[in-house]
Amino acid sequence: MDNKFPGKDISDEDLKNKFPLSSSINEKKIINLGKNIKFGDDLIPFIAGPNGVENQDLMFKCCEILEKKNIKCLRGNIYKPLTFPYRSNKYFEAGDKGIEVLRKIKENFDVIIFTEIMEEKKIDDVKDVIDVIQIGARNMQNFPLITASAKTAKPILLKRHFGSSIRDLLGSAEYALIEKNENVILCERGISAPHTHKATSRFLLDLQSIPAIKDNSCLPIISDPSHACFWHEWVRPLTLGSIATGAEGIMVEFHENPREAAVDPLQAISFKEFEDLVDQSRNLAESLNKKIV
Ligand code: PEP
Ligand code: MN
Repeated sequence: MDNKFPGKDISDEDLKNKFPLSSSINEKKIINLGKNIKFGDDLIPFIAGPNGVENQDLMFKCCEILEKKNIKCLRGNIYKPLTFPYRSNKYFEAGDKGIEVLRKIKENFDVIIFTEIMEEKKIDDVKDVIDVIQIGARNMQNFPLITASAKTAKPILLKRHFGSSIRDLLGSAEYALIEKNENVILCERGISAPHTHKATSRFLLDLQSIPAIKDNSCLPIISDPSHACFWHEWVRPLTLGSIATGAEGIMVEFHENPREAAVDPLQAISFKEFEDLVDQSRNLAESLNKKIV
């Protein structure tokens, strides 16, 4: 495709020479995580859970809701890239002590755990209890982290940085693919466009990037409406919009007491809202001959 991206164009030369592995010149990749979960075909897996692993009780309750709704992928984040360095009893991440909680989840539930890793040195500690390594938006161009994560042979969820072009995102994906790790899932999670919206929404979900990435890459692209809008009331319309624009998966935050969540309390939806969202998404997906799993 010629000059579709003003400013940071993806050219035919890019498809062949800059990201030959992640480019659309290859057959579309289907990433099979087992348990009937595939990214990149007619399934739309949901990856859901609280922002972070706060405690075992909360995680078990979330897993029970996932089981009830036949959703298999769990957000199990123990390391959090918090914007400010301050911690309190109310605002915290689990850190290393969350590893034990993840282990307990594995023993008790049939879920696929997605966990963000922020530092190479943590990879060995967590790789046996998690299923998918999430590279967060802020680390999208941490190339040594991507390379080290890819070498584990675990599937990778690579989130687009809020200030990065699609060309840059595919460049980062290429760092994983070149390590012979073919299982890379891309994620649109909102971009910075401060002049277009009120401060509380934080980012702007770039729905247009979903078809654009599909046009330029063989990798599946999912959407994270929670981090994009930062506002629980907008998660439902943005999830449905993402499915309508072709998202091949949805990452969404839910919590037993959303407004009490240890991180990002404004964006989590309640258990009931999550259940309704799954039902509504299933109806929409069906009309598009796709299936929420
Ligand atoms: C997250 O998924 O918890 C997260 C921090 O997302 P992002 O890296 O997109 O901000
Ligand atoms: Mn977050």
